[in-house]
Amino acid sequence: MIVYTTKGGKYFPVAESFAKDSSTPRGIYINLTNQCNNDCVFCLRDKKILNAENTLWLEREPSVDEIKSELDKLNWQLVSEIVFCGFGEPTMRLAELKKLLRYVKENHPEISTRLNTNGLGSLQHGRDIAPEFENILDVASISLNSATAERYLKITRSKFGLQAYAAMFDFAERMKNFVPQVVMTIVDKVTPPDEIIACKKICDEHGLKLRVRPYEDN
Ligand code: SF4
Repeated sequence: MIVYTTKGGKYFPVAESFAKDSSTPRGIYINLTNQCNNDCVFCLRDKKILNAENTLWLEREPSVDEIKSELDKLNWQLVSEIVFCGFGEPTMRLAELKKLLRYVKENHPEISTRLNTNGLGSLQHGRDIAPEFENILDVASISLNSATAERYLKITRSKFGLQAYAAMFDFAERMKNFVPQVVMTIVDKVTPPDEIIACKKICDEHGLKLRVRPYEDN
C-alpha cells in the first residue's frame, strides 16, 4: 500500500477505511520507500509478509505523480492530517518528500502535515536539510530511541555508527527553527522505565517534547 490509514496497530487501504467510517476525519499515511539507513531491532520491515492486501512492503517505489494521483482521490472532508511514514525512512527520498509536502500545502493548506523520521536526513544527504521543511511541514516526529549514543546504536544498528545519535539530536534542534512542532518519540515496549526517565531529562535539557508511544502506534 502506498496510501493507507492505521487503527490499533493495523494498516488499512484508504477506501476500506472510508467505507467503514464516512464521518470521522483520520490521519492518512504515505508510504514512500522501503529504504532506510537504520536497521532497528523492532522495525516492522522485518514483517514483510503481512496480509497480502495490507502489506506496506513496496515492490517498487511510487513516483510523485502516482502519489499525487492517490491524494487527489481522497475525500478531504475525512482527512485530519497527512503523515509521511511507512516501512522505510521518508527522507531517503527527500526530493520527492518535499514535492509532496508542498503539493498538500498548496492544495489543502488547512490540513496538518507530519513527518515521522529517524532524524538522520542531514547526515544522509551531507547537508543541513532542516530549512528545506519551512512552510511545508507542521510536525516533525523524530525517533529518539534511547538516552545514550551507545544504546541508540544497539537498537538502531545505524549504518552511521555512533555519530548517528548526535546527528539526530542536531537535526531535532535545527528543525525547531523551521517547523512549528518537533516531537521526540520512544517506544514503550522496547524502552526500560529508567531509560524513559533519562530520555525525558535529555529532551527537557534541549527544550524538546518527548512522546512515549505504544509499539506499532504511528
Ligand atoms: S528508522 Fe524506522 S524504518 Fe528505519 S529501521 Fe528503524 S524503525 Fe525501520
